[in-house]
Amino acid sequence: MPVNPLTDNTYITNAQRPLKEWHLSDFEIGRPLGKGKFGRVYMVRTKEEPKFVLALKTLYKDEIIQGRVEKQIRREIEIQQNLRHPNVLRLYGYFHDANRIFLMLEFAGKGELYRPLSRAGRFTERRSARYIAQMADALSYLHAKHVIHRDIKPENLLLGLNGELKIADFGWSVHAPSNRRTTICGTCDYLPPEMVEHKQHDEKVDLWALGVLSYEFLCGKPPFEEPDQQATYRRIKEVRYSFPTYVSPEAKDFISRLLQYEPPKRMPLSEVLVHPWLEKYRHRGSQGAPKASSS
Ligand code: ATP
Ligand code: MG
Repeated sequence: MPVNPLTDNTYITNAQRPLKEWHLSDFEIGRPLGKGKFGRVYMVRTKEEPKFVLALKTLYKDEIIQGRVEKQIRREIEIQQNLRHPNVLRLYGYFHDANRIFLMLEFAGKGELYRPLSRAGRFTERRSARYIAQMADALSYLHAKHVIHRDIKPENLLLGLNGELKIADFGWSVHAPSNRRTTICGTCDYLPPEMVEHKQHDEKVDLWALGVLSYEFLCGKPPFEEPDQQATYRRIKEVRYSFPTYVSPEAKDFISRLLQYEPPKRMPLSEVLVHPWLEKYRHRGSQGAPKASSS
């Protein structure tokens, strides 16, 4: 097994060895991968052999302070650094210089899931079900660790080199239960009724978002979409949506069990994982990255 300079040096099992401190000069900087609110993301590789490819996210300290998101970013780092799951984007470590913070992230070779979705318009039932099964797996892992993501939407999902789904962007995630005042965050299309109504919320917000995501994969747009936010909020509170005729009965059943107004009535992840819609497309012994030809 070749050594991975990131995992083998950053996380130390042997207490004698000091933690490797990373520095910008340890990396060869490659092409830009994207731009976010507070940072740019670059494809980089370690200078040290064996050269290891990763994504380096740059955050400017003064912008973080101006945006008053220090706490949010600290949380993003703390939470993501402790997560190990094939469908959760890995954060290997971080370092900083005078002006910037650098996050060493797993490289998601196929980029944003949002792109193939908007190119295709909508996904097939097979492709949707396989992505949703990976989401459900990742959410089971997160919820077992008492982490609520709270910002599930196609823009925050990346694809690995084999097409496997990776949950990214833990900027809005919290350790459950959330004892903070409920804050409106995320895209309004994915907000559950309890957040629209500023009530207390728990990990069941991610179940609602999973229902919205399943709908958007299959239909190409979220179920409560309206030109203005107030109209969207009204539809969310009334759980008012309908299915196009091409959606299968299994998928309709799956989505309608998640889009429940009352959080305790939403289908739990243990049932999500064995629901007939996901079972129908589960293939044996594989993580279930859909082939390009199947879409
Ligand atoms: P926003 O809050 O606007 O979503 P952000 O600051 O959270 O922005 P990211 O979403 O993390 O920034 O990154 C911006 C873009 O860079 C992503 O949309 C994606 O296209 C690309 N990107 C980010 N991380 C990776 C990665 N690990 N592998 C490949 N591409 C990435
Ligand atoms: Mg983002």
